[in-house]
Amino acid sequence: MMLIDGKAHAARLRADIAQAVIARGAAGARAPALAVVLVGDDPASHVYVRNKIAACAEAGITSIEHRRDADLAEAELLALVESLNRDAQVDGILVQLPLPAHIDAQKVIAAISPDKDVDGFHPVNAGRLATGLDGFVPCTPLGCLRLLESTLGDLTGAEALVIGRSNIVGRPMASLLISASATVTVAHSRSRDLPGLCRRADIVVAAVGRPEMLRGSWLKPGSTVIDVGINRVAKESGTGTRLVGDVCFTEAAEVAAHITPVPGGVGPMTIACLLENTLKAASQA
Ligand code: NDP
Repeated sequence: MMLIDGKAHAARLRADIAQAVIARGAAGARAPALAVVLVGDDPASHVYVRNKIAACAEAGITSIEHRRDADLAEAELLALVESLNRDAQVDGILVQLPLPAHIDAQKVIAAISPDKDVDGFHPVNAGRLATGLDGFVPCTPLGCLRLLESTLGDLTGAEALVIGRSNIVGRPMASLLISASATVTVAHSRSRDLPGLCRRADIVVAAVGRPEMLRGSWLKPGSTVIDVGINRVAKESGTGTRLVGDVCFTEAAEVAAHITPVPGGVGPMTIACLLENTLKAASQA
């Protein structure tokens, strides 16, 4: 079994982006700029935003943080997004999810200019991806595709199973794999015989949110497993928690040819692809 080292792949991608930012600067362009909007005090969201801002700084990308209290009115958030859409100094806009329950997240996503939508969640970008047009692709599935292509090369004809059909991971992942000419199956909570679907797959992308659900005995020997899941579980010792994926790593490592670890697999690629999308937005501005 070969470990797919997402951390190392992400470090290379971030270094390439930093080089491109320097080249832009040398040609007289200002640094790419990302506006990050964080509403409320969800602790996980604060960690994600902090990591994204640190990664921007390291790559020479300017980030502008807009923090608002949890009781922010939806109209005020929409007005902030509108002002960022109009701001020529802002290339990319990221509204950290989840938003407080009184705010309609879909409405906010739809308010972001598709040309600044570096998360790739706007329906226009989802439509571009689904129809094979160029646009912004959600960072997590884009990172998964990069890992698959650098591990396997050409994906043409490969049997790929995507488990999960969310707009953030599963659906865009399926679209990317179709465009890469894989033969794609999408499974979800209503699918029958998930182990049987897994056994046929050369590639399994698990984006479910259920700790270690996917067992080693379900996998086809020699397959490639991308584990998107991030689940916090209690340590066996009873004190503290640890992160596990949607795949039972120790079992899967016995059967698969290539597998991403959790942490250190897909997560670092997600942030690197956010930088890539921000650079792309700046280049198209
Ligand atoms: P969602 O909850 O939006 O979607 C989960 C999907 O899994 C749904 O389509 C659901 O089916 C399906 N599902 C649930 N239970 C089963 C089951 N028993 N068998 C088969 N399918 C099932 O989650 P996300 O897509 O947002 O995230 C998935 C995981 O990835 C989470 O652990 C999340 O933390 C992680 N994640 C990691 C990121 C990273 O950077 N590494 C980024 C984003 C997410 P149905 O549609 O029928 O309900």
